[in-house]
Parts: sequence; structure tokens; C-alpha cells
Amino acid sequence: MDRRGFIRAAAVTGVGGAAASQLAAPAVAKGRMEWRMVTTWPKNYPGLGTGAELLAQLIERGTDGRLTVKVFGAGEIVPAFEALDAVSGGTVEMGHGASYYWKGKIAALQFLTTFPFGLTAQEQNAWFQYGGGQEIADEMYKQLGCKFFPSGNSGAQMGGWFNREINSLEDYKGLKMRIPGLGGEVVKAAGGNVVNLPGAEIPPALQSGAIDAAEWVGPYNDLAFGLYKSAKYYYYPGWHEPGSTLDNFINLAAWEGLPADIKAVIESANAAVNQTVLSEFVARNNSSLKTLVQQHGVVLKAFPDPVLEGLGGLSGQVLDGLAASDPMSRKVMDSLLSFRKDAMAWTRLSEQAFTAARALPYTFAEAKAG
Ligand code: CA
Repeated sequence: MDRRGFIRAAAVTGVGGAAASQLAAPAVAKGRMEWRMVTTWPKNYPGLGTGAELLAQLIERGTDGRLTVKVFGAGEIVPAFEALDAVSGGTVEMGHGASYYWKGKIAALQFLTTFPFGLTAQEQNAWFQYGGGQEIADEMYKQLGCKFFPSGNSGAQMGGWFNREINSLEDYKGLKMRIPGLGGEVVKAAGGNVVNLPGAEIPPALQSGAIDAAEWVGPYNDLAFGLYKSAKYYYYPGWHEPGSTLDNFINLAAWEGLPADIKAVIESANAAVNQTVLSEFVARNNSSLKTLVQQHGVVLKAFPDPVLEGLGGLSGQVLDGLAASDPMSRKVMDSLLSFRKDAMAWTRLSEQAFTAARALPYTFAEAKAG
């Protein structure tokens, strides 16, 4: 903390003071607060880091500058995977990442991001808002001294970059792959050698051959990292991450010290970011996929159905195993699995039937601009 910051912090009075005084570097003067947000993303990274920046901007504008949030990329204050500790321990007030990065704290947190063969982005959002998801998330994050908000969604991801073909489940044996969360557990069950790396460490690891395969996100982000330079095949679908939710976590004492109107601004800002990030991914994936295929000659491959069926079966085993060993995972899974069952029945008749109808071979009107 600089000297001015120290003097401001020492002069803390009134609303927010009790919470802020527990933090290492707060600055509250004349009702104005300066917070810091650590992220698991490279600074301003497309869609993810920019989502965190948007959140900060919306909070500052919505509070007319009463609360400003300075965003830090991974490694600027703490390494990516120490972001949660930095927030729960009060080094900073706020963080942005993904719940599955914190599975070492509470295993069931993984489910809040996504789960293999689970929910689409919109279904996952519906679960958070109308299926009891927010309450379950709050219960877990509270144990870590944090308040949670869904804060962006990647939409359906890609299956990943591979240097050899995946023609059967056997091809996963010995495959050294970067794949986090429950998807990683499934690849492990298939015989893969699984590692988790923060985003920025993936390109060099794939380039050097330290790993054979890697999933990151989808065309937009994977193009930004240049992953096409180090792998031959780009597989789909992202069975392991059908709609990954990003998390905004706030030091609980700092959150509880906020006045109700600023709390409402943060809640609304997260709702806006949650939708805006998903929209950005949809729009940018469309154009980035075209660039990958047309300019970089990327070879797209679908996982064969028997591979997906095998991975689906293994996913069930992994989920059952987790639920059997951990009551909280049982609770989250029961909620998600019953939501999934109903969602599958409706989605089959709605999005699924519609996108199949749209893809039938008929001649359609085309944009004049091409
Ligand atoms: Ca991913």
C-alpha cells in the first residue's frame, strides 16, 4: 500500500469501515471505496479477462464512482490459482475465475462451473436463477468466506486440440492432456494422464510436447492463444464443458459491509456480465472458427459416437463416485441431475429439434454482402 492509501485506510469511518478494516489494502474516504479484483485470466484476455473488466466498469458507473474496482491479471498480485485465497484471506476484495479451479477447497464447487454431459449455458443459468443453484453456491462459497455470483459463460466449448486421432476410447490411454475439472477426472478414468494448467501456460506446453493434447475454450480463445500452431486436429463437441460459468467471488466481510444499493449494483452488473460474455463468445466463436479453418487450415473432427458414449458412461461413474464419497457433491448433483432431466425433455423439443430442422438441406435466402 502506498502512503496515501495508508492514510485513507487509517481514516476509515462509517459504512463499510468494519469490513474494509479487515482487508490489507482498502481505501475508503468520503464514502468512496477502491477495491482490487484478482483474476485467473491473463490481463484483458478475450472474453474472460474482458468480462472481468466489464464487471469493474459497470460497478464504477452504477455507483457513480463510490466503488471503483481495479482489475489485475493472473500473476500480477497472486498466481491464477491463488485468486480465491487472496479474496477469502482479505488480501483483495474481489476475484474472477471459475469454480472448478477451487475444487481443492470444496470438491462440489466443480459442479457450479459445468459438468460432463451436463447443462447448456442457458440451462445452467436457469438452474442458478430458478433451480436453486444460487442458494447452493452461496452455501459453499460462504464456507470459504466469499459471496458468489455467476459472472459470464463460455457457452459450449470445443473438445480440444490433439496431435493424434481419437478413434476409440483406447486412444486416451497414456494421453497427456490439459483438461481441468470433472472432464479431467473422466479422461483420467479413460486412462489419460491429466494435468491442469492456467490458460497462459497451455501454448508453451503444447508447443514443447510436454502435453499431447489440450482443451482450452473454443475458437475465439483458442485462436488468440495460437493453439492451432501446435496441434493437428480440433475435436468437437466439448462434452466436458457444455456451458462453463465463470465466478465472481467477493470477500464476505467486504460484501456484507456494503450498503444495499451498492450490493444491488454488483448483483445487476454480474447479471449483465453473465449474459454479455456469453453473447461475446457466440459472436466471436462464429468468426474465429471461420478464421481457423479458412486461414489456418485447421482440421475439424467430431468425436465418434462410440467414444462419446464411452466418455458418457465414464462420466456417470465419476459423478457417482464423487457423490458417494462427499455429501455436498451428492446434494449439488441431485439438484443438477433432476434439473438436467427436465431440461433434456424440453430442449429435445425446442433448441435441439429446431437446430436440427435449420440444418436440413434446403435452399435458403442469403445475405447480399456474403
Ligand atoms: Ca475449457
